[in-house]
Amino acid sequence: SSKCESQRCDEAKSLPISRHRDALVRAVEDHVFLVVTGETGSGKTTQLPQYLYRAGLWKAGNIGITQPRRVAAITVAQRVSHEMRFTLGKEVGYQVRFDDCTSEATVVKYMTDGCLLREILADPLLSKYSIVILDEAHERSLNTDILLGLLKKTLCGVDKGSEGRSVPLHVVVMSATLETDKLSTFLGGCPVFTIPGRTFPVTSSFGSAIGPKDVNGSSYVNEVVRVALNVHSGELAGDILVFLTGQSEIEKACDLLYEKAERIDYRYDVQDQTVEGLLILPLYGSMPTDQQRQIFLAPPTGIRKCVVATNIAATSLTIDGIKYIVDSGFVKQLNHNSRVGMDILEVVPISKSEAQQRAGRAGRTSAGKCFRIYSNEFWEKCMLEYTVPEIQRTSLTAVVLTLKCLGVHDVIGFPYLDRPEERLILEALKQLYQFDAIDRRGRVTRLGELMVEFPLHPGLTRALLKAASFGCEDLLLPLAAMLSVENIFIRPGHPEKQKEADKKHRRLAAKAGGMNDFATLLSVFQWCKDSDSPSAWCKENWVHWRALKSAFSIETQLCEILLRLKQKRDFPVEVFTGNKSELFRRCLCTGYFTNVARRSVGKTFSTMDGHGTAVHVHPSSSLFEHEAELDWLIFHDMMVTSRVYLRTVCPIRYEWVKELLPKLHQVDVYELSNIARE
Ligand code: ADP
Ligand code: MG
Repeated sequence: SSKCESQRCDEAKSLPISRHRDALVRAVEDHVFLVVTGETGSGKTTQLPQYLYRAGLWKAGNIGITQPRRVAAITVAQRVSHEMRFTLGKEVGYQVRFDDCTSEATVVKYMTDGCLLREILADPLLSKYSIVILDEAHERSLNTDILLGLLKKTLCGVDKGSEGRSVPLHVVVMSATLETDKLSTFLGGCPVFTIPGRTFPVTSSFGSAIGPKDVNGSSYVNEVVRVALNVHSGELAGDILVFLTGQSEIEKACDLLYEKAERIDYRYDVQDQTVEGLLILPLYGSMPTDQQRQIFLAPPTGIRKCVVATNIAATSLTIDGIKYIVDSGFVKQLNHNSRVGMDILEVVPISKSEAQQRAGRAGRTSAGKCFRIYSNEFWEKCMLEYTVPEIQRTSLTAVVLTLKCLGVHDVIGFPYLDRPEERLILEALKQLYQFDAIDRRGRVTRLGELMVEFPLHPGLTRALLKAASFGCEDLLLPLAAMLSVENIFIRPGHPEKQKEADKKHRRLAAKAGGMNDFATLLSVFQWCKDSDSPSAWCKENWVHWRALKSAFSIETQLCEILLRLKQKRDFPVEVFTGNKSELFRRCLCTGYFTNVARRSVGKTFSTMDGHGTAVHVHPSSSLFEHEAELDWLIFHDMMVTSRVYLRTVCPIRYEWVKELLPKLHQVDVYELSNIARE
């Protein structure tokens, strides 16, 4: 192992960043703002914090590094603590939503940008920190953009918040080679430190399977698999990286690869480089971390590695040895959908700059090839030049509440790197007003102050606080936890197994009452928790044990937040007489009245928020077959294909929302626009 240790050090030394170590440390010390840029894989994320640590800069305060993605924060922290020979969670730790792996000893902390935003709420001067590094700024995630604005405002703006600090805060913004001038200009013309790095040429080719008619994401999984297998059987040694959009797709592609790769004759000889087998590895956000670690290991001699990944492998994580890229051309993205007036997770074409970034992953250590499965026409007609920043395409409700709680009242005049449309800001204010988080003058209410403490969607938080005011948070806490984890129910994909899983899931829903998806989630949580062997219970019922485990942990954390808030003097208290099932649904209505649908005479449901979208209950819901018996319902989210489907649905009575619904139309947009500027 000592050989391996020294090899690891050599690797770190040979990274492009290593020759600039001293100059970088000096640049960070000398400036309040610094932009650092360099090709992906040059060592910014893993090395710079180590340099700063070794230079002793942590003594003046912690070194915090933000990442837009939680997997990146976790994986990188693991890697860095390993390189530094620390135990993870000691000197080097990480914190992501609902998972804190830090301790008193932690001085280098990797975290999601959302976590740092929460820390600012509790400590606006970030007094624990001497250096904050905003990493992956080119990704333009909503929270990173907000952090950029906040740090600019407090450090060099009129607020001069830094005056309250004992030592000045240094802010480093790291980005791939895109947009660095824009970042520097935004930060008052701060210096840009460029890490020179060599990349090798990548030849890209277009395919013919995906064209403009497939823009809504037809089945590209088979094509991706076909191309990957062609690469495997026809190309020289070198690993493959396949870009798809999400977990289920990736698992399907891996299954197909396993199935078909077996039929390839592996003893394929090209110029003495024998490629004998294919090692197929999935990579997506909600994967167990020990499995993720495998991705980085070199494959055994003669074996070709094929990583099938989401966009996470485009910039956040660098896998060495990749020589071939297979690009599906699509990405899963949260977009505000103006047709339905909600944020929807959609599969959309990537931008051209994103496609170039993906291709570049093949040219890190030698010349590479990128196989695009889409046509040149698709590239010309369906792909934007650049990815639209998240702040311009998603709901700003949670972020606007955070800003208001930080004392930023003029949310329109806030220094945005790219300004969101005013419509999106007003929409956020309207929602906050509807949830009673702000008053008619745009000031944060007492309820708003409580709401901001929860890392949940404001509507769900509103429902939770309502339940807590009745003293029945035991109903909403587990539900909120269950809605915060992905993929509770296992969907095997394989037709026979799928039938079995469906049967079990239907049985669970029936046992929980049969007509309420929220109640099913709540019951699954309880049954699993109360069973003698929760993991066996999950296996038996085709439920993801890992998801349930996180739900248990999230529930505990939400409970802690609530207990802390309940100790405060003016926590709202209300009295309710009636049965628990009604109380449960009434509390849900308080948070979900923006998501109400009603069945009209024409026998389809439509939403009540002014959009009047025609909607259908999703087949995965226990109410799917009862659509005809229902009239009013609330839903957790939507799925938009050619039709709009409601997922996680619960029937309600009109009386429960009668007084709430007018709120949807009460607020005047002009009035809001004025208070937004106040
Ligand atoms: P940048 O931030 O500039 O894109 P990184 O610091 O992420 O670069 O990566 C530098 C090097 O460290 C790359 O060669 C990458 O493969 C390696 N690396 C990063 N994370 C891991 C890990 N978890 N395991 C093994 N190698 C890693
Ligand atoms: Mg990086």
